[in-house]
Amino acid sequence: MTRNLQYGRGLVWLRNDLRLRDNTALYRAAVSCGAVAAVFIACPKTWKSHDDGDPVVNFRLACLRELQESLAGRRIPLYFLEVASFDEVPSALQQIVRKLQIDAVFANAEYPFNEQRRDSAARAALQEAGVPIEYSTDRTLVPPGAVRTGSGDAYKVFTPFKRAFVSQCGATDFSPLPPPRQFDGDKGWPQWLQIAGAHNLVQTIPDTVRGYRALPQKDGKIFGWMPGEKAGARRLREFGEIIDGYEDERDFPAIDATSRLSPYLNCGAVSIRQCAQLALGLNEGRWVGGSEGISCWLGELIWREFYTHLLVAFPRLCKHQPFKPETDRVPWSGDELAFRRWCQGKTGVPIVDAAMRQLLETGWMHNRLRMVVASFLSKNLLIDWRWGERHFMNHLIDADFAANNGGWQWAASTGTDAVPYFRVFNPYSQSKKFDPRGEFIRRFVPELHELNDKEIHCPDSAADYPAPICDVAQSRKHAIEVYAALK
Ligand SMILES: Cc1cc2nc3c(=O)[nH]c(=O)nc-3n(C[C@H](O)[C@H](O)[C@H](O)COP(=O)(O)OP(=O)(O)OC[C@H]3O[C@@H](n4cnc5c(N)ncnc54)[C@H](O)[C@@H]3O)c2cc1C
Repeated sequence: MTRNLQYGRGLVWLRNDLRLRDNTALYRAAVSCGAVAAVFIACPKTWKSHDDGDPVVNFRLACLRELQESLAGRRIPLYFLEVASFDEVPSALQQIVRKLQIDAVFANAEYPFNEQRRDSAARAALQEAGVPIEYSTDRTLVPPGAVRTGSGDAYKVFTPFKRAFVSQCGATDFSPLPPPRQFDGDKGWPQWLQIAGAHNLVQTIPDTVRGYRALPQKDGKIFGWMPGEKAGARRLREFGEIIDGYEDERDFPAIDATSRLSPYLNCGAVSIRQCAQLALGLNEGRWVGGSEGISCWLGELIWREFYTHLLVAFPRLCKHQPFKPETDRVPWSGDELAFRRWCQGKTGVPIVDAAMRQLLETGWMHNRLRMVVASFLSKNLLIDWRWGERHFMNHLIDADFAANNGGWQWAASTGTDAVPYFRVFNPYSQSKKFDPRGEFIRRFVPELHELNDKEIHCPDSAADYPAPICDVAQSRKHAIEVYAALK
């Protein structure tokens, strides 16, 4: 077949889009170039400054290893380079394109403030080298900013955003893109290259990068999570079999009723279009209506979209600032000991402790419990939500700045469309309602194993288990007064 190709040699710059299938940048490179290579540039110093922890970095590198094999099958070499920070990326890319004689670079857009700044600097550096770079929409269903109010502003509230998203984009074809074609044999790609001021560009993916611990793997799994595109695709397929029950069961942490796709979505081993396509395919193409389970899950995908759109519309969210500036006047307690007890799952409030231990042991926490523990920290303990946001980033295997910041600002009532300040989750009622038989608590707080289904939510006393760190009713009242005084 003769191809009318625009470029000779293309480079795909991979970031959090670690998959072969339905990868817009990879697809664009494959249809427009005669030969394609890929590169991943690790920036551990910047990752640290963004609070990326060992779980997310280990998972990312493991997904990258699997992707390298898949790409090799298509004769696309994947190079790896470690520099310290985003600042060094533009010059590194300049050297790479010169040495590999690249005609065009392809990448999928990323939206947090520092990522956007890095990408503009990369564009300028590549321009200097005479090489164009094309950024594609891939992380979200539609580009941030595409859904706007009648007067052209960004939406600040979820429900109207969702309504507008469905009416403006509901009929859009989100069909996944095919994987890149198979390229011909040897295109003279070198095994490695020297890059000034950085490590060598190599074709081996290391177990870890500077400042990060290589976590032990068991049967290829990290914290029980099998990395990679194939595992992500399997999980999506399996979730399709239980998606109808999502709305009814998603709030019960002892039940495996949610998709658990977040680690895959965040490093890009699964694409958002693949998720939308599966759900829409099962729901006769409908975003709302049809199966309640499916439309509820599609709503969660729109929440993900909403939080990413917010980052772009309000860059101050990326600068440790609350959406509502007045909430910066909350007199946070600064109690480091209480914070440590919260982090370790030793607050004496069983559902909070079970959740915090789930995070430490599995790198993941159930959504209902993320809300409960975030409310407990920011309201009952009156500890700055940013401390909790940071702990989550450090420990979650699905750590994602947009969703995490959005979730924390929602729970702490500092965000746009947040929970009203006077609504404070009662951890004991949440526990009784969503873990009625204490199954989840028993799984993660073995000290309470012997207690009956009633006592387990609020034990009077149990060996080796601390008394509650605070009086939930009193601290709730205090938090409401503090927030009310901000007005
Ligand atoms: C305080 C707090 C912190 C959070 N931190 C993160 C985080 O770092 N990374 C992260 O991916 N999610 C975060 N979330 C959102 C949500 O808890 C997780 O996305 C969800 O628990 C992941 O499990 P799942 O894949 O089984 O989700 P499902 O219920 O199956 O949902 C499917 C997908 O929709 C998206 N999604 C679901 N709920 C939300 C939401 N509220 N906001 C944005 N996207 C959502 C996720 O991509 C998720 O994988 C946070 C929520 C809160 C309250």
